[in-house]
Amino acid sequence: MSDAKVREVWPGIYIVHLPLPVRPTIVNVYLLHSGDEWVLVDTGVDTAESKAAFDTALAQIGCPPDGMTRVICTHHHPDHFGCSRAYRERSGARLYMNRLEYEIASAFGRGRRSEDVTAFFIRNGVPIERFVQIPSPAAFWSEMYRPATPDHFIEDGEVLTFGDLQIEVITTPGHTAGHCVLYLRRQRLLISGDHLLPKITPHVGFYPGGPENPLRDFLESQRKIQRFDVNLVLPAHGGTFPDHRHRANQIIHHHEYRLQEMIDAIRRQGRTAYEIGCLCFGFDVGSPLMVQIPATFETLAHLQYLHAQGRVVREDHGEQTLYRAT
Ligand SMILES: [Zn+2]
Repeated sequence: MSDAKVREVWPGIYIVHLPLPVRPTIVNVYLLHSGDEWVLVDTGVDTAESKAAFDTALAQIGCPPDGMTRVICTHHHPDHFGCSRAYRERSGARLYMNRLEYEIASAFGRGRRSEDVTAFFIRNGVPIERFVQIPSPAAFWSEMYRPATPDHFIEDGEVLTFGDLQIEVITTPGHTAGHCVLYLRRQRLLISGDHLLPKITPHVGFYPGGPENPLRDFLESQRKIQRFDVNLVLPAHGGTFPDHRHRANQIIHHHEYRLQEMIDAIRRQGRTAYEIGCLCFGFDVGSPLMVQIPATFETLAHLQYLHAQGRVVREDHGEQTLYRAT
């Protein structure tokens, strides 16, 4: 039984809640209707449960199952892009996404954890002997992740006009390197993907092979969206909310606090990123690895930021890298 939850949040703009197999347990996708155009923003994962919930929502709204004309994805993560192939094949909709996100997605699908990544974990103090037990993210998601190739690569400042909809693309790197939010100009609505969320702070991690300073990118993207006037934010997780500037500033302050906390943790002695993560995020070696690993990547994003500012130094200690406040 599918438990579709759909609501018109603005005339012709619908929020659809789709189930996820992990926390957060719901992703919001949005359907925008104007004239003959039905635009879907983000897709959910490719599971029978999610597709059934989506179909029920379509029926409730009055959009035919093959009625979608466009699909736009904010970024490459499975809950946003994972069902793009299924929906595109069924409807013939044109698919829009940032090129960078598509390139990351192409790499994401490839199975095994490389030796480079293992070395990266060891260097940063992750207890790797436990970590090899669980599947890599790519293996975990592979069954629900069936992305399609975009028909068009969206770029910063581009305005997509579909019917009466004027959708401005705003690139907001940070959560992912090519993350985009969408600004509906006439309605002044901001579809924020995972960039701006009401209850949780978006994950910002430093990954081997990824951008050098993702937290700096993310904080700049939080300032960037404040240049727009917004009536309502339509996030990918949690409820809609009005004051995007207030929330963006809260998120900036959260990270400033976190940065200071990390400095304090390494004032007297050098520590690995994993140890700093334990102290600042409150996990330990007994916590679920699905908590420990992302928190370590997030710690590293903060350390990269501090290192670029000259506020921490790195020291080699055997096969590990230690961080110490300057
Ligand atoms: Zn995401």
